[in-house]
Amino acid sequence: MNGETRFLADSMLGTLAKWLRILGYDTTYYSSIDDNHLVRLSRAEGRILLTRDTGLRKRKGLWCLFIKSEILEQQLAQVLESFHLRVDNPFSRCPVCNTALEDVPKYEAWGQVPPFVFQTQERFRLCPECDRFYWRGTHWQRMVERVERLKK
Ligand SMILES: [Zn+2]
Repeated sequence: MNGETRFLADSMLGTLAKWLRILGYDTTYYSSIDDNHLVRLSRAEGRILLTRDTGLRKRKGLWCLFIKSEILEQQLAQVLESFHLRVDNPFSRCPVCNTALEDVPKYEAWGQVPPFVFQTQERFRLCPECDRFYWRGTHWQRMVERVERLKK
């Protein structure tokens, strides 16, 4: 399981934060936050700070990973490799708000998702925090396949 590795992404890494959540990793992100606050949160919550900021990288006593690439897939691959993580619990966390998703019976998705999706998907998950429904769409599958390829 991946429950122990938690992240805090700096304000330049919103897309990376969203995708780490999709892959199942607890990742907080604030679009507007100053460096000192980021550092405090990282320490207080025991989160690994993901940053592209060379200044933050030099802070002492901070558990952080300097993200080298500007390309999302390379960023994801770097994070997964650095902490020996596997994509073994994807689709378990809301990409919007980071809350753990709940499995819901298919009928609950009726009228809440596009008709085609309702017809073609069997499994749905719901974010109890922001009431969004999720399913394994083609975009998600393509992305996971690409991340898997990068890891080899
Ligand atoms: Zn949510």
